[in-house]
Amino acid sequence: MSFPYEAPVSQSLFDRASVVTPGGVNSPVRAFRAVGGTPRFMVSGTGPYLTDADGREYVDLVCSWGPMILGHSHPEVIAAVQAAVARGTSFGTPGEGEVELAEQIVARIEPVEQVRLVSSGTEATMSAIRLARGFTGRAKVIKFAGCYHGHVDALLAAAGSGVATFGLPDTPGVTGAQAGDTIVLPYNDIEAVRAAFAAHPGQIACVITEASPGNMGVVPPLPGFNQGLKDVCGENGALYISDEVMTGFRVSKAGWYGIDGVRPDLMTFGKVMGGGFPAAAFGGRADVMAHLAPAGPVYQAGTLSGNPVATAAGVAQLRLLDDAAYAKVDAVSAELRGLVTAALAKEGVAHRLQVAGNMFSVFFTDAEVTDYDAAKAQESFRFTPFFHAMLERGVYLPPSAFESWFVSTAHDDAAVERIAAALPAAARAAAEATA
Ligand code: PLP
Repeated sequence: MSFPYEAPVSQSLFDRASVVTPGGVNSPVRAFRAVGGTPRFMVSGTGPYLTDADGREYVDLVCSWGPMILGHSHPEVIAAVQAAVARGTSFGTPGEGEVELAEQIVARIEPVEQVRLVSSGTEATMSAIRLARGFTGRAKVIKFAGCYHGHVDALLAAAGSGVATFGLPDTPGVTGAQAGDTIVLPYNDIEAVRAAFAAHPGQIACVITEASPGNMGVVPPLPGFNQGLKDVCGENGALYISDEVMTGFRVSKAGWYGIDGVRPDLMTFGKVMGGGFPAAAFGGRADVMAHLAPAGPVYQAGTLSGNPVATAAGVAQLRLLDDAAYAKVDAVSAELRGLVTAALAKEGVAHRLQVAGNMFSVFFTDAEVTDYDAAKAQESFRFTPFFHAMLERGVYLPPSAFESWFVSTAHDDAAVERIAAALPAAARAAAEATA
């Protein structure tokens, strides 16, 4: 498709970036390859808005892929960060900020008795898997097709997010040895999980799942699925790891656990808990966490783990996330879902909005999407013109049909009105799209 509007400053930055950085970006989906056109280089963010290098303002429905649940540049988070920076940026020693952040996590999420801070969601899931293997003395890991747990070698098989966006079957560079102990199963299929345990008795260390997947678009667990995973793991001496990097502290005070109440053995977190800085965590049962160095033999470490600036941002953000904040995010999400549905229905576009708490995404299909195959079967060619029509009208959506949309407490009436004004043309563009 052609792109009638220009973004010359972003384009020249992208040209410069492409010389010194592979593909011009530091995380693949940012390159706009799934939708075409010039990736927007953002220079600032305030509340629900981002401003790009060409001076154009957008309502942001990506929110940094989840973290910015209070909107951009929230004054209290910025003040906490500035105060922390003024005291120094990294000490390589323990500090009070990391104790406070860990205490907040433990206080909010009952199954987390102890937690270890790391710097990215990838590190969190990688470390949780290592710990599960060290604790159980077993090698095999079950994951689900379409779930993304970061770019951990063993977990990149049939992964969602950018791997789904680019239709990559597998990733070169992951050796057979690294992936050989990974069992990939269809999401929401508890019988497949039972069959895998029966086929590999005493060999499966853990099942890792997104608490409610958002990386193949939003595909919530069917009723009883997470409980089923927990039960099968318990019956077979394996650990149930719930990856809440995306849902944690976003869909409720206690994340997806606060919604479904299924108690994992280990959990992983990131995004919201870092307040826009690189902070993530894994935690859970104290008897399992006791196996981590220096308390136990499973090694795990990080130069910048528990960084004082990142923990200050995270603590400030979590403090502000009270019941009223979640009610606000939920309400904005519901309002937007209504607007999107109305616009697409008006143009007769087959679609389905799927929801997990305040996360949601649009599938261009009539059918319920319960797994990765169904997600891929949607008419994703309709997304590209839909995306660009929204972008042209000042709404920044995730540049892929396989990602959740995110809103914040800062999405006020003016922001919602701008989205409402953009939707009719975008729905028409989706209706007119051809494969
Ligand atoms: N787990 C889930 C569920 C995620 O959504 C992500 C990132 O999107 C990750 C893990 C990896 O986190 P990070 O990008 O911080 O490494």
